Amino acid sequence: MDRQLATTLTAAVNPERLARTALALIAIPSPTRSAGAVADELARLLAADGFAVERPVADWPEAPAVVTRLHSGQPGRTLQFDGHLDTVHLPFVPPKLEGGVLYGSGASDMKGGVAAFVEALRVLRDTGALSAGQVLLTTHDHHEGPWGDRRQLKALIRDGYVGDGVLLPEYLATPLPVAGRGQAIFAVRLTRPGEPVHEVLQAPGTPQVLLAGAELALRLRALDIELKVHQHPYAGADSCFVGHLASGEIYNQVPVECMLKGTRRWIEAGTVEAVRAEFAAVVAEVAAQHGVPWQLDFSVSGDAFVVAAEDPLVRAFQAAHQAVSGAGLPLGGKPFMDDGNTFAALAGIPALTHGPAATGAHTLDERVSLEELVRVARVYALCALAYCNP
Ligand SMILES: [Zn+2]
Repeated sequence: MDRQLATTLTAAVNPERLARTALALIAIPSPTRSAGAVADELARLLAADGFAVERPVADWPEAPAVVTRLHSGQPGRTLQFDGHLDTVHLPFVPPKLEGGVLYGSGASDMKGGVAAFVEALRVLRDTGALSAGQVLLTTHDHHEGPWGDRRQLKALIRDGYVGDGVLLPEYLATPLPVAGRGQAIFAVRLTRPGEPVHEVLQAPGTPQVLLAGAELALRLRALDIELKVHQHPYAGADSCFVGHLASGEIYNQVPVECMLKGTRRWIEAGTVEAVRAEFAAVVAEVAAQHGVPWQLDFSVSGDAFVVAAEDPLVRAFQAAHQAVSGAGLPLGGKPFMDDGNTFAALAGIPALTHGPAATGAHTLDERVSLEELVRVARVYALCALAYCNP
């Protein structure tokens, strides 16, 4: 990385301007599926700053996405900055900047990070540092579950709003996650025909859904132990977890239904169908032994992914991090699922999650220091510089 350029870009990040942008975004409530007003505000801010803004509907007319591009005019790679503008459904907390810390709904997750993207775009443009390739900023609604189903991001990818690599500003400052598990949320429903009945009045041979459910929970626990052989040094291991088991109304009634809910996580990308089939086979076997009909909802949240350590995006990121903080980040796994998993699965591009060391995501006490937002804005700008110039 050109040291002179790196110094120029680093110095150009303007903390006051960055804070103003973050505060303006946090000030507009945007629970998932209702991010239209904040998207309009971001579009207005970018346009006022001289950026050409596109508003692709991307399957969500309620809040068309906000897209802008910074072209160098020369061939090179495209680095995508992608962020979500929606927040979890909690009571709105208005923005506040106090003692160098930003508070409010979305401060950590992830309006602070989106504001850092915008600041990175500004300094890349104003310094004229980007000499090859382009930066593509995409922001959207429909991220946070269970309210959103990621349809808008999927539509953006389908419609070609995709770079050669993508950065996501979720609240993970270290390590650099180069692998992550896929996840499915399962719900198994075991039933028996007939009505609830007093235990002493039941017909001989009445199927026992509660016992079937209990046995299934034990079988899934055994599966979890077997799955531990599938290990990845960063992502961890395959797993199967039951977090909810419910059956029966009162102590002396034979129930008609048993529900089990939990998660199945896996490390190998592209194995969703095999994972689903293996899980369904266990359910079918236990249900058959107990003579109970079963239904399975196996809802895939996202696939596993791996980014090669030698991928140009990892190299560019590490060079940027080194220039800003004196060292690259240790490589590691991503503990959660985010839109990076969707980019990896649907767009086939490397996706790196790196954001401010913020706290309180998904709570009423989101906070992020302005210093951290400045740091990540510098990393984003320098990463673009290193990545776009092949
Ligand atoms: Zn988020």
